[in-house]
Amino acid sequence: MNKILIIEDESSIAELEKDYLELSGFEVTIESDGSSGAAHAIDEDFDLIILDLMLPGMDGFEICSLIREKKNTPVIIVSAKKDDIDKIRGLGIGADDYMTKPFSPSELVARVKAHLARYKRLTSAGIQENEIIEIRGLKIDKTARRVYINGEEKNFTTKEFDLLTFLAQNPNHVYSKEELFKEIWELESVGDIATVTVHIKKIREKIEESTSKPQYIETIWGVGYRFKV
Ligand code: CA
Repeated sequence: MNKILIIEDESSIAELEKDYLELSGFEVTIESDGSSGAAHAIDEDFDLIILDLMLPGMDGFEICSLIREKKNTPVIIVSAKKDDIDKIRGLGIGADDYMTKPFSPSELVARVKAHLARYKRLTSAGIQENEIIEIRGLKIDKTARRVYINGEEKNFTTKEFDLLTFLAQNPNHVYSKEELFKEIWELESVGDIATVTVHIKKIREKIEESTSKPQYIETIWGVGYRFKV
């Protein structure tokens, strides 16, 4: 079932939108405050977001920009602001559609369906979001195989990247050098477990502010390594 988030402070409008969407088989959540709406839109994976512009806490333009920094979820702005400039601004920051109040609920439902269908076509055509792991200042783009620390890209060799990604994907799990070697170098006969130590050292030099006080990859003496979250 498609999940839709409505960020709207006028409860009569939010309820009207919800009723129509539920009748069409959608699962609907309402947020009436801008800030909590933005947080919810980012934390949970909704299939589509219906966004008001004038909201307490945070306005719809700001919410839309925040969502776009993280996600490609379709956004339909539904607002009492009729000016073309608002429409242009809304679409310019990544909204997919703009409807003005008062609106016809069945038209809203039709547009929701059209955007969901379009989004599905795009994603199934392979235009997908990159798979990203983000932990504090560290960002690993698994799809593009790139690593950033506080926004700055660092160059990683294939094995360094594989090792860091494996640890970051399994945080708080202590791995011995043998286990890591097997995991990352399994099919290659060259090297031994000292290779793991060398690679950990190189990774730390790239991602840690202080290699003697690592914030990400922790040494568990006598056992191995653990990625801290
Ligand atoms: Ca409003």
